[in-house]
Amino acid sequence: MDLEFRGSVIKQVESILHEAIKAGVSDIHIEPYEKKYRLRYRIDGVLQEVSSLQFNQKDAMVSRIKVMADLDIAEKRRPQDGRIKFRSKDGNEIDIRISILPTQHGEKVVLRILDKSQLQLKLESLGFDEEILKDFRKAIHNPYGMVLVTGPTGSGKTTTLYAALNELNTQEVNITTIEDPIEYNLEGINQTQVHEEIGLTFAHALRSILRQDPNIIMVGEIRDKETAEIAIRSALTGHMVFSTLHTNDAASAVSRLVDMGVEPFLLASSIRMVMAQRLVRKICSNCKAEYKPDLQILKDIGLQANGTYWTGEGCEACNHTGFKGRTALIELLVFDNTITEKILQNADAGELKIIARENGMTTLREAGIEKVKNSVTTVEEIYRETVL
Ligand SMILES: [Zn+2]
Repeated sequence: MDLEFRGSVIKQVESILHEAIKAGVSDIHIEPYEKKYRLRYRIDGVLQEVSSLQFNQKDAMVSRIKVMADLDIAEKRRPQDGRIKFRSKDGNEIDIRISILPTQHGEKVVLRILDKSQLQLKLESLGFDEEILKDFRKAIHNPYGMVLVTGPTGSGKTTTLYAALNELNTQEVNITTIEDPIEYNLEGINQTQVHEEIGLTFAHALRSILRQDPNIIMVGEIRDKETAEIAIRSALTGHMVFSTLHTNDAASAVSRLVDMGVEPFLLASSIRMVMAQRLVRKICSNCKAEYKPDLQILKDIGLQANGTYWTGEGCEACNHTGFKGRTALIELLVFDNTITEKILQNADAGELKIIARENGMTTLREAGIEKVKNSVTTVEEIYRETVL
């Protein structure tokens, strides 16, 4: 490969990284197809095509990224993972997680940008309503018990828990986490990475953490009965435990844990609160305009056809998407007496949801409708992200 060509590839990779960091991109996708080499960015949770790259730079681009991440250049048939540290134009050192996957037309690279300067670690900055914030704070400041956050990948669960840990992080308490992967390094918090291949699972690490006299423990995710049981036992023996589950709503977290084999009475006595969370895009304030949403969608959501609705028309400020930034939709299932009683009676998720709503719980969909009414987001955003 001649020097000039190599030089231009090195520059190309650099400029993609600088541009993406500046634009607040979370993931860069570099994808080879039969006749095209595509570059896409994920901004505010949604992928956008940026441009086509030069097809003849395909292999050289991947090699350059492999060199930066200290990966095996010769290996082209197996997936590889790595990390690079990259200095942004304003001098911040940024962690970038690299994943390389062989596809039919070459290796696809995804670069996840972990820009700590963009990380909002204050509970106030997560977009929670005042009441929700108050209830969440009350739950996390308990001396012991468990708080669960649920939602799909990319719903902001980890950020919420990091913000909770950040608020509780003082020199008087020992905070330890077990994560897969560790997304951001948090000052003053002991973070442990899961290593399944050497047997360091969530459950195994959790047992060791308990010997280290912790006050607060975060378990990245509860995936199995063993982890669930140790976590709950910890919550019942004087520790504050935070974790996440992949369920669609707050009430389903209870049935998921019961399905894993955890006894309902253990859940009823350990859990303080389950929070379900989604992120929706905010309408760009620079190009906000009235519009008529699809009638069928309005009908499905239960909104008036003749109401006033807003969207973003697209402008320079929002990359012509009509959206800028995201906000959280929250559903809080507080474990009060009525809820714990129902759990002890083996109530399913549907029954729990009904009782919780009678007690004033706002569902994700309702939280979304509120944000539509306040012209924060669009009807389509909440239609996509929430169910009835
Ligand atoms: Zn705009």
